[in-house]
Amino acid sequence: MSTTSVPIAPFVRLFGRYLREQGLPVTQQREAVAQVVFGSDAHLSVEEIESILREEGDRIGKATIYRTLDLLVKSKLVEEHDFGEGFKRYEHRLSRQPDHDHLICRECGQVTEFKDPELRRMQERVAREHGFVTSRHKLEIYGLCAPCREAGATLEEQGLTCPIETV
Ligand SMILES: [Zn+2]
Ligand SMILES: [Zn+2]
Repeated sequence: MSTTSVPIAPFVRLFGRYLREQGLPVTQQREAVAQVVFGSDAHLSVEEIESILREEGDRIGKATIYRTLDLLVKSKLVEEHDFGEGFKRYEHRLSRQPDHDHLICRECGQVTEFKDPELRRMQERVAREHGFVTSRHKLEIYGLCAPCREAGATLEEQGLTCPIETV
């Protein structure tokens, strides 16, 4: 797991300030959850957050983790992703790569970040052509990562065959 090079204390304090503004208590448990999320550049699931906390000797229940993540998302310091795995993943928004997109491996679940200026220009052009003002965008590309492909994984056929006879 990659750890971030950015100092995390200021962000934990920022989250504390958000909690106080909402009239919510700044508890040690909430700070511990925030520290795990800010301390990682990965896209963490609740399970992963729970196990990191356990390794650090913090026994924090799932309900508290969920509630804290909810608050972190509302504070806009953390982004929530649904990559269609049946659970959510969380990443802090203080990343070295703001505004990045994701490649998601269907086989191992690996999430790879990328940024492409060409893609950015294309989006701007498409928006302009439609007289559209963009507020945010989300691009997720699903498939197989190189190691899974090399290991022989294949993608299952997707979608329906057209039920309409085309004679
Ligand atoms: Zn893979
Ligand atoms: Zn990401």
